[in-house]
Amino acid sequence: MESTAIAAIELLSDQRICKQCGGSFIANRKHQRFCTPAHKEQYHLDKRHGLKPKSHTSIILVAVQCYPNHTAPELATIVGLTNVQVSRRVCELEKKDIVQRSDEKRWCVVSKQRCVTWREVE
Ligand SMILES: [Zn+2]
Repeated sequence: MESTAIAAIELLSDQRICKQCGGSFIANRKHQRFCTPAHKEQYHLDKRHGLKPKSHTSIILVAVQCYPNHTAPELATIVGLTNVQVSRRVCELEKKDIVQRSDEKRWCVVSKQRCVTWREVE
């Protein structure tokens, strides 16, 4: 939809388009721009780290925040990506100092091996 069309709809009603997911929602507050607080948080998080919204990297970062100290194969199972996809992205996030390896490896319930676990850099 064109942005002028979106603006017109917004004037006519409390119908809004979420800046994060692009879904429509009914605003309860005047300046509400996101359908849920979670989408607002996700949007600002992506922006802060310079990530493309809804990219694999952004999905994996949220998974690491929600499930700290999990291994890459476990995170892959949680978010529905492959182990290779997750391993590659956590290494990229590590280079940017966004996530870090936990001190000890532990037994991974998915790969059945001792694996590195990941958490967010504080
Ligand atoms: Zn949304």
